Amino acid sequence: MPLLGAHVSTAGGVSLAFERGLAIGCDALQVFVKNANTWRAKPIADAEVAAFHAAHAATPGPGTAAPLPVVAHASYLINLCSPKPDVHEKSQGALLDELARCSALGVPGLVMHPGAHLGEGEDAGLDGIARALDAVHAAGPDLTARVLLENTAGQGTVLGSRLEQLAHVRGALDAPERVGVCLDTCHAFAAGYDLRSEAGYAAFVDEIEATIGQGTVAAVHLNDSVFDVGSRKDRHATIGEGFLGAETFARWLADPRWGDVPMVLETPLGDDGLGHQRDLVTLRALL
Ligand SMILES: [Zn+2]
Repeated sequence: MPLLGAHVSTAGGVSLAFERGLAIGCDALQVFVKNANTWRAKPIADAEVAAFHAAHAATPGPGTAAPLPVVAHASYLINLCSPKPDVHEKSQGALLDELARCSALGVPGLVMHPGAHLGEGEDAGLDGIARALDAVHAAGPDLTARVLLENTAGQGTVLGSRLEQLAHVRGALDAPERVGVCLDTCHAFAAGYDLRSEAGYAAFVDEIEATIGQGTVAAVHLNDSVFDVGSRKDRHATIGEGFLGAETFARWLADPRWGDVPMVLETPLGDDGLGHQRDLVTLRALL
């Protein structure tokens, strides 16, 4: 059975994610480990770290004794290839801090957008991201959490819209095994991968194998898309109500290669806040 879940709120404490996730039917979770819109945040209190571990241990994954799979999502401010020295510096510091938070919590993967080159050029940007990751890894040799580079819609100078760009970054790292990948269905579609057809999906998975390799994919974001293929706009839609459509997700979920990979929703919550709960019902009805 696919590991389906959602991004859940950690308002009031990161340990509260588990009861919130279980309440809406999650078999996998994504959380923020700090406010995603600020550079700095106070450290997670030891008692909160302990509460997170206790709640995690008490929350088995579906049909197994292993705990529920959890991934984190990094701050949106981080840009590892910013040509502005202060942003570059703050980005590396913020990433190191977030990886340390994840490591303390036992969260193995931190999803991060690769960055935007802001006019410096694609290759310079991709190499800059790799050098920054090397520096973070050198500063944190004992970190257990890995960065998961997320594919993007490719708006403006944002990097990571092509799988070969993610492969470029990994290939330029001193320790590529310390970085995995998170695939977002909306971003891939907006970037021009037409996942709607059998042939388009087959071409996409072939390209995964030819570039990053299936084994590097450690998380998936299941989002429908407000805009059509190739729009380069990152706007998530409710499952089945966007341009991707329910059939696309039925095909994705039927593919056994995603069997062990946590797949989380980042779809609109709606006025009543229950959007993820409804989308999980929709996805499970497609199985
Ligand atoms: Zn995403």
